[in-house]
Amino acid sequence: MKTFKIASIPGDGIGKEVVPAANKVLKTIADIHGGIQFNFTDFPWSCEHYLEHGEMMPEDALERLQNFDSIFLGAVGNLKLVPDHISLWGMLIKIRREFEQVINIRPAKVLKGIRSPLLNPKDFDLIVVRENSEGEYSSVGGNIYKGEDEIAIQNAIFSRKATERAMRFAFELASKRKKHVTSATKSNGIYYSMPFWDSVFEDVSKDYSEIQTDSQHIDALAAFFVTRPHQFDVIVASNLFGDILTDLGAGIMGSVGVAPAANINVNGKYPSMFEPVHGSAPDIVGKGIANPIGQIWTAKMMLDHFGEEELGSVLLDVVESVTNDSILTPDVGGNYTTEEVTNEIIKRLKIVE
Ligand code: ATP
Ligand code: MG
Repeated sequence: MKTFKIASIPGDGIGKEVVPAANKVLKTIADIHGGIQFNFTDFPWSCEHYLEHGEMMPEDALERLQNFDSIFLGAVGNLKLVPDHISLWGMLIKIRREFEQVINIRPAKVLKGIRSPLLNPKDFDLIVVRENSEGEYSSVGGNIYKGEDEIAIQNAIFSRKATERAMRFAFELASKRKKHVTSATKSNGIYYSMPFWDSVFEDVSKDYSEIQTDSQHIDALAAFFVTRPHQFDVIVASNLFGDILTDLGAGIMGSVGVAPAANINVNGKYPSMFEPVHGSAPDIVGKGIANPIGQIWTAKMMLDHFGEEELGSVLLDVVESVTNDSILTPDVGGNYTTEEVTNEIIKRLKIVE
């Protein structure tokens, strides 16, 4: 029996609705499979926890999380009660940094039965690998002068180590897919970092002769997401470019509620964290209509990470059969509830095996 220890953190808002739904799906998979088991430990760390205890999570939180095989997170944030810098820095960013989750992966694909703004949604099936530790999101810089002469200077940090690490990750991923990596660059406008990015890409690509490569400027690349989606397989991008591209991807997927994501620790020292793209969605909380698919697809990514790729693809196929039959929550044009969509997925999983 293979056992995977999962730290389950529903967090805030609809996180508390979609994480239990996804955990139920995972339990069903384990029951059917027989040879695998998921041991969930629930942690109530959230904005509510902050209001009660003055901290998003206890001081020994990281020690407690360290020995899990993965962290399965819903969403964190409740702007009405706790400012973002406290909820994000007190938990999400702390975990990502301390556990060296240096790569963010976001698959983007239009599931059958979900309307997309694209004319040929079938063609849209790609993965963005985003460098998650440095780049444009740096605190190096400052403000000089005052008044009308004031100038803000923002430095971007690109190290060979982190750049190469993200690129190698992308190439490895592509070798299991359509064997194509696109580099998101802007070396025609950004003077130092992007030419460096290009040269590292060229170096790394020499180690992967079986993988096709191309390099696109980020502005054109964004347009090609819409006009030529079939040409993409894996895209490697800096922190900022990856952030923007993946939101574009979620938009093309029809709703942020279906978009999955993972923060990966690549050196194997710490657990990785699986967390959908969407936030706590305070506008729909408590209504029972949150789309559980983003969280369930995120669970599929966790299965892949555990080496259970076959189970992962069965799960995604079942999810797609449900969307294809228009069993959908309101964000993607249906009128089913979180529970109904989840139960339908569970019912069909039982039939497949
Ligand atoms: P955060 O700062 O936590 O990212 P946000 O306000 O930027 O929050 P979301 O919480 O993702 O972003 O919400 C954006 C919109 O998408 C809201 O209208 C929300 O209701 C909707 N939404 C997000 N997730 C889902 C979901 N799983 N199902 C249905 N609608 C969703
Ligand atoms: Mg947001």
